[in-house]
Amino acid sequence: MDFLRPAGWEEALAAKAEHPAAVPIAGGTDVMVEINFDHRRPEHLLDLNRIGELSEWEVGRESVRLGASVPYSAIMEHLRSELPGLALASHTVASPQIRNRGGVGGNLGTASPAGDAHPALLAAGCEVEAASVRGTRMIPIDAFYTGVKRNALEPDELIRAVHIRKADGPQQYSKVGTRNAMVIAVCAFGLALHPETRTVRTGIGSAAPTPVRAKEAEQFLNAALEEGGFWESGRIITPSIARQFAALAAGACNPIDDVRGTARYRRHAVGIMARRTLGWTWEQYRGAGRTLEGAA
Ligand SMILES: Cc1cc2nc3c(=O)[nH]c(=O)nc-3n(C[C@H](O)[C@H](O)[C@H](O)COP(=O)(O)OP(=O)(O)OC[C@H]3O[C@@H](n4cnc5c(N)ncnc54)[C@H](O)[C@@H]3O)c2cc1C
Repeated sequence: MDFLRPAGWEEALAAKAEHPAAVPIAGGTDVMVEINFDHRRPEHLLDLNRIGELSEWEVGRESVRLGASVPYSAIMEHLRSELPGLALASHTVASPQIRNRGGVGGNLGTASPAGDAHPALLAAGCEVEAASVRGTRMIPIDAFYTGVKRNALEPDELIRAVHIRKADGPQQYSKVGTRNAMVIAVCAFGLALHPETRTVRTGIGSAAPTPVRAKEAEQFLNAALEEGGFWESGRIITPSIARQFAALAAGACNPIDDVRGTARYRRHAVGIMARRTLGWTWEQYRGAGRTLEGAA
């Protein structure tokens, strides 16, 4: 196995163009597991760790440009107010050691339906900056996940950064696992309120072949909040709206039975998490300490 160690971004792109099958390695928390278990034996590993810019971020007026290798621990420490959903999701990843190494670029590279960054990215809204020697393109997150552990990257492309919309309202992330740390999600749910556009966005993890949004649930809730004047009044969301939102979110799942949980359990849990995250975010939005009227 050859180890390619480009000193800069252009060199990395040239190496990927020359060896499209080369496997990039950032934190290595997915790649090394695959190699150690002999699931993968690539001819070339492309080490991205000498490229400093991949571990940097920039906070712009509307979005955060997050370098592909920024570790979860940095997101938790420095970007909590700009990216609260992603910071909460980062908190649930594995252990401090893994959070110091692993990052969003690697989560996107693996594109596992269980990756914790995905529901938060889908809910916040973001674009993936993909580059090759041919140029740069922005891939909307909704078009990024193309199948089980498959993504929209071309063989010669690398992820340079992720452009994530800064939070304009409360965001939440909820994950069900078999214990509280060091677990891959049985299922997960991210929710972001966008008061500026009076919309709600969601992300579901580990309950379909790819991370998905609960689009029907979003549409229903957007209409219900608009028609009821909830955004202006900030009044409590009625239990029937919360229940219908939860049912539609559960309906957006297309899960399987596996060692971590049954399809039935996953659908049920996603519904519960949808209702809870709606309750939490809406309470934050209202700035009050009350809970959803009778919806618990
Ligand atoms: C013990 C343990 C526990 C874990 N727990 C969780 C968990 O709770 N939640 C969770 O989501 N994940 C978990 N993981 C998986 C892993 O930590 C995450 O997926 C992490 O985000 C991977 O990031 P990385 O930088 O280590 O990626 P790497 O392992 O370096 O790379 C992962 C994939 O992305 C590709 N890649 C990396 N960077 C780029 C780039 N710039 N451009 C294109 N492709 C790229 C690689 O080629 C590879 O296919 C766990 C892993 C371990 C070992």
